[in-house]
Amino acid sequence: MDKFWRTVELLREEPDLRIEWAQPAPRQDLLRVHSRAYLDRIFEGNLERIEAIKLGLPAGPELLARSALEVGGTLQATVAARREGLAGNLAGGTHHAFADRGLGYCVLNDVAVAIRRHQVEQPGSRIFVVDTDAHQGNGTHHLFAHDETVFTYSIHGGKNYPAAKVPGSLDVPLPRFVSGHDYLEQLESTLPDAFHDFAPDLCFWIAGADLHRDDRFGQMRLDDRHFAARDELVLKLVTARQTPTVVLFGGGYNRDRTHTARLHAATVIRCAQYWKKHYAGATAPAP
Ligand SMILES: [Zn+2]
Repeated sequence: MDKFWRTVELLREEPDLRIEWAQPAPRQDLLRVHSRAYLDRIFEGNLERIEAIKLGLPAGPELLARSALEVGGTLQATVAARREGLAGNLAGGTHHAFADRGLGYCVLNDVAVAIRRHQVEQPGSRIFVVDTDAHQGNGTHHLFAHDETVFTYSIHGGKNYPAAKVPGSLDVPLPRFVSGHDYLEQLESTLPDAFHDFAPDLCFWIAGADLHRDDRFGQMRLDDRHFAARDELVLKLVTARQTPTVVLFGGGYNRDRTHTARLHAATVIRCAQYWKKHYAGATAPAP
């Protein structure tokens, strides 16, 4: 997964971005979402063979350390977003992770850990998860199925991975190889109303770069212009209400790996432009 480094390289010179290194998420934060037994199993490399196959990554101390760093980045971005309006993690959006198991390259659920910590720090907050990754956020949906203060929105391929969907607050399943035009039409007709009706205090946006027509797993047909339109739609929505928003990568598996990094970077740059337009002046540059 060298897309992370490639994206950092693309963003290093951006004038309106401040990039900070992530610190690993404390274990007490992970334990608000994940079971002690699961964390121990990853650390000890003790996953059942079938569990390891479903996860798609080899277990061991390094995997837990790497994943805790990823979650730590989302925790830091949440603090920054609350302070500065818009912030992101140049990783994260691991929405297939459940409390006691990982799936599809997702070991720990960074959004869930950040939400649980936020709920401790600011009880009663209303939190909206916008999941525009090409795949359904089944782990996140499961973790907040009974929490009415968290709204989980997912627009995704209805026949794509994961095979067993978990209902969220609002699911928008799309046909296989949906066109960019139809995708945007569905997004526009479902997300803004849900977002306004729920009136959140904080938003997590799992952007996803796997909607691209050249992605190996996304099964969608968006091009670069459609990506820009998707980003504009979400960013207009969250900045119009001044809802602090944490932006996360999600998936991206373009045949051309450099293109995956360029798609992620383009989204981050659009966020920086919106930050500058709506929040700059009162605070330091958003990380
Ligand atoms: Zn995905």
